[in-house]
Amino acid sequence: MIIKPKIRGFICTTAHPAGCAAHVNRQIDYIKDSTAIQGAKKVLVIGASTGYGLASRIAASFGMGADTIGVSYERPAADGRTASAGWYNTVAFERAARAAGYIAESINGDAFSHEIKQETLKLVKEKLGKVDLIVYSVASPRRTHPDTGETFNSVLKPIGQPFTNKTVNTNTGVVSEITLEPATQEEIDNTVTVMGGEDWSLWLKALEEADLLADGVTTLAYSYIGPEITEAIYRKGTIGQAKNDLEATAHTLTKQLERYQGKAYVSVNKALVTQSSSAIPVVPLYISLLFKVMKEKGLHEGCIEQAQRLFEKLYSGSTVETDEEGRIRLDNWEMREDVQEAVKAAWSEITTENVSERGDLEQYRLDFLQLFGFGFDEIDYELDVDPEVHTN
Ligand code: NAD
Repeated sequence: MIIKPKIRGFICTTAHPAGCAAHVNRQIDYIKDSTAIQGAKKVLVIGASTGYGLASRIAASFGMGADTIGVSYERPAADGRTASAGWYNTVAFERAARAAGYIAESINGDAFSHEIKQETLKLVKEKLGKVDLIVYSVASPRRTHPDTGETFNSVLKPIGQPFTNKTVNTNTGVVSEITLEPATQEEIDNTVTVMGGEDWSLWLKALEEADLLADGVTTLAYSYIGPEITEAIYRKGTIGQAKNDLEATAHTLTKQLERYQGKAYVSVNKALVTQSSSAIPVVPLYISLLFKVMKEKGLHEGCIEQAQRLFEKLYSGSTVETDEEGRIRLDNWEMREDVQEAVKAAWSEITTENVSERGDLEQYRLDFLQLFGFGFDEIDYELDVDPEVHTN
């Protein structure tokens, strides 16, 4: 099969197995070239197949020498359709990690369910024993509650009043104004149920009950704050309420982990192109302006650079540097005053006509394509490839 990108709005419905492997291998190479870290050795990553979770898994194995188990929810190839990118990424990661001598096992299924938790615990017990790091990096538009069977959908909406701002269609480059109506209380609550901290704490509870937490265990989840431009849709919007809940969960978990001298942290990461962030209105335009500024200042990072910096912060010193809320701040370069001033100035002037010059839409589009394994020079996209790849 010859596989080309098929972009529908903010998703790409195809993925390229060799291109996804190239994407994974580039991240592995970056970590191999970085300073090795003495850190966690037995790592569980929930939401391990793309974006920040995948980068964390790569940095854990190739930077800290860790054995890993990854949980994700991806689609295998079937009926002439390619698998999802996360499926191919997982296959590529497992192959590379095993070839390098690390244990790398993966579970594909709904992390929110009791069944997948139990299946994972069994595998953790069998392959890793007690874990010393659990990374929770699930991003999902919906969650079926494991106890009631009720399905909740998350929404990306402002709270209290409508929000109008600029947005870009990243495919056409057209900049326009968008008005988003405020969420209802039910939508806010549902978003917290999907993207808040409940499932993270259910994972920790299940691991504790199975006696699979090592002394000194650390658990991490990821959050975002961002600037005033995106505040109404992000931090003060429905997703921000979920992030507040996630951050509060870190404090509760830290108390629960005291008997292990363990810690739960939320790391506030940089805005990046991932399958999840491309779905948020306004944010892709902000990201393309941000990339331009951060590149000019030599501060640009992707998920893998952030994952490396996170583990350095976590494991390199005797104390972990946090803000006053106890959060690790990997967004410190994004939020630097000079960076934000420059983005703000560009934002006020941005139009369809100047977006390619004032913003880095090219980088945005390339990053987006690469999420699905396209846009890699080393891959011949005219070659016939088998979409059905599996690990043994
Ligand atoms: P992503 O879409 O790239 O990854 C989501 C992961 O969750 C995938 O591995 C997917 O398979 C998995 N997943 C989704 N539903 C699942 C389910 N039901 N069961 C098992 N796995 C499931 O997302 P991302 O952008 O890397 O986001 C990860 C975390 O990082 C989120 O908490 C997000 O808010 C946060 N974050 C993202 C950004 C950003 O700009 N992208 C910035 C800061 C923080």
